[in-house]
Amino acid sequence: MTSSPSSHSPSPLATPPNVYDAEPIPDAVRAEIDRLLQSGDLFRYTAAQDAPVTLLEQEFAALMGSRYALAVSSCSAALFLSLKALGLPRDARVLIPGFTFAAVPSSVVHADCVPVLCEVGQNYRVDIADFEAKLDGGIEAVIISHMRGHTSDMDAIMALCDARGIPVVEDAAHSLGTTWNGKNIGTIGRVGCFSFQSYKLVNAGEGGILITDDADLVARAVIMSGAYEHNWQKHGQAKADDALTSAFARWQNNLPLYNLRLSNLSAAVVRAQLPEIARRVRDGRRNHDYVADRLNTSPWLNVPEKLAPEDRAPDSIQFNLVGMDDVQVTEFAQAAADRGVKVQVFGQSRDNARAFWNWQFLGQIPALPQTRTMLMRACDVRLPARLTRAELDVIADVLIGAADAVTADRKAFGT
Ligand SMILES: *Cc1c(COP(=O)(O)O)cnc(C)c1O
Repeated sequence: MTSSPSSHSPSPLATPPNVYDAEPIPDAVRAEIDRLLQSGDLFRYTAAQDAPVTLLEQEFAALMGSRYALAVSSCSAALFLSLKALGLPRDARVLIPGFTFAAVPSSVVHADCVPVLCEVGQNYRVDIADFEAKLDGGIEAVIISHMRGHTSDMDAIMALCDARGIPVVEDAAHSLGTTWNGKNIGTIGRVGCFSFQSYKLVNAGEGGILITDDADLVARAVIMSGAYEHNWQKHGQAKADDALTSAFARWQNNLPLYNLRLSNLSAAVVRAQLPEIARRVRDGRRNHDYVADRLNTSPWLNVPEKLAPEDRAPDSIQFNLVGMDDVQVTEFAQAAADRGVKVQVFGQSRDNARAFWNWQFLGQIPALPQTRTMLMRACDVRLPARLTRAELDVIADVLIGAADAVTADRKAFGT
């Protein structure tokens, strides 16, 4: 690779970092994995007590300040089980944001319910006016996706839903470590769901967990997750908690088993990363805010402000392209890619799973003009917590440089 020290970006010396590789899993996990491999004890219900999955549930609940946790095979499974555990009737209407991952409407369909989409604003958060209007259209439950960690106005949402007795499920898949008014995201609604898939803050390849303070709800979810016969007794809290024990007794043999359990191997990988969460949150926030400040110096790029009660835990950055037409948007993504930084424009990349018009499995897809406008200009760049200041500068330089290049070109050609 050759370069001249005086050249301006894109400088070949300033190679953009690989933002896709995960952090190594802490070494501490090796002894535990070895132990599990030696004993072959991979199923959460083999041991009478203290299986890694059970310990993970206890540790995660304590970390979040919730009474109960249930670890399962994915966040999608946690969302599905939440809806089933709420006891929603077939065809119940579930309000979800129009900007979320396709797994969210899918979990609603899987639970035999009907997703209803509401508008999302330029700041990636639920449009409260549209939310309120749709809430009175026979909605029986709500899932709020804190998409890419962006927290919607949970005070307004909870007030509207509580007044109508509508339960709120928080999809906090990508929000672990975020707080709202100092309270952990996922503990505000009736139930909160998190993901341990590799692109989230804690990486077990696959996995998920739900948290709640509701004994009846968690008992139902535990049984349906696959605690057949009396395996619910192996859930640590069951022994000391009368409300939970009586809920298990009430639901015994009365619920289908969907078998969405987590394996002990995955739980061991998650547990080893719990002590890393605080650092990843701190570094992710610092990185995000640094790059956000830099991008906001460009007239072409805008990182929306968070809402005041939120402290975010980002591992990526989202920003809107300002004053560019569709051609320039495409050129911007290409110019950034040519400089080594991959930008996903949610609404422009083909078959994007976060663009609601691609959720064709829903049959009828609503118009959601505001959400569509946002998606056509909203960009997504990964920004893992492990990046250094120099690497962040390379990414910011590339993005600002790409925006300047495509806007300058167009001006030069008089279009
Ligand atoms: C990743 C993600 C999911 C799905 O999580 P899985 O564990 O892969 O099922 C759901 N919602 C959001 C907002 C996500 O980011």
